[in-house]
Amino acid sequence: MSRFLSGKYAALEPYTPGEQPKTAVLTKLNTNESPFPPAKEVTDAIAEAAASLQLYPDPDCTALRGAIAKTFDVDPDMVLCNNGSDEGLYFAFMAYCEEGTPAVFPDITYGFYPVFAGMTGTDYREVPLREDLSIEPEDYFEAGGTVFIPNPNAPTGIPLSRAQIDEILKHNPDNIVVIDEAYVDFGTESAVPLTREYGNLLVIQTFSKSRSLAGMRLGYVIGCKELIADLNTLRFSTNPYNIDRLAMAAGTASLENDRINIAHCEEIMKNREYTCGELAKMGFEMTDSTANFIFVRHPEIEGGELFAELRKRGVIVRHFTKERISDYNRISIGSREQMDILLREVRDILDGKRR
Ligand code: PMP
Repeated sequence: MSRFLSGKYAALEPYTPGEQPKTAVLTKLNTNESPFPPAKEVTDAIAEAAASLQLYPDPDCTALRGAIAKTFDVDPDMVLCNNGSDEGLYFAFMAYCEEGTPAVFPDITYGFYPVFAGMTGTDYREVPLREDLSIEPEDYFEAGGTVFIPNPNAPTGIPLSRAQIDEILKHNPDNIVVIDEAYVDFGTESAVPLTREYGNLLVIQTFSKSRSLAGMRLGYVIGCKELIADLNTLRFSTNPYNIDRLAMAAGTASLENDRINIAHCEEIMKNREYTCGELAKMGFEMTDSTANFIFVRHPEIEGGELFAELRKRGVIVRHFTKERISDYNRISIGSREQMDILLREVRDILDGKRR
């Protein structure tokens, strides 16, 4: 840190993204990316847009917002596009958290939430998960602050139903509720239809996981038009050109060809069931994940040890040292071939321990 950094950031602990290895690794299952590259229609659209990069992009993001609105059957004024859904989350912290209005989120959840609280100088309250690592909706009734819930939760992958989100909304008429749906497309009910009903709901989604565009940085927020206008005030006050021409073209083409993304999601869900079945046969315990990752532990090997052993063999998963979950590893679901490599190495590690 230099002596010039503003005192207000001196204690900030930045978010640590999952490792992006610089050398070729065999099997990268640590940051929940899609194993499938974007469709040719998407890369063609990017190439075409590249020819106009001397011009600024449309600050209203009209074409992409239109495509998102059509996909979700909402008004384009209910959509805001972001440079990755992390930016949408940051805007929501900026807009709706302040002294007396803390952020309220699960004690085990996406590690960026406490960082956003730090960035925006707001307090936060962590709500403990139940013993089985699921979220108890009632714990969020009359939350006394702005609620942030990933659905499904990360890193557990455990979902809430739309009816449960509806209950949380009903019991928070005076609080904003933000549902972070980064992993919704792998078998979780979306809360987007509720945005037409509730003036206090924001749903945040991303092109990073189910639409194979993590490298593009593209996300969006859906909510009533007054809330989206709030977020636009912040956007136009920080970075009005937050969506570049390539991302706008990629996102629009991706939604126009969404059947390809949906087929990829179905394949990932199939690979998830297969991997869970094989790991269960080896004695693993796991949460009931509806995400493109699973959260697993084994009674005979510590989470950190399994992580390190896999790492040595060129398979990267994600291990968190946080108290209640340090026995677990989060494993992204990739192609069948990647999962077979993982399973082979895990089997070998367990055999080695038993010998
Ligand atoms: N929410 C959750 C729960 C996540 O795990 C992630 C990915 N790290 C994000 C939001 C952000 O995704 P992106 O910025 O790539 O859209």
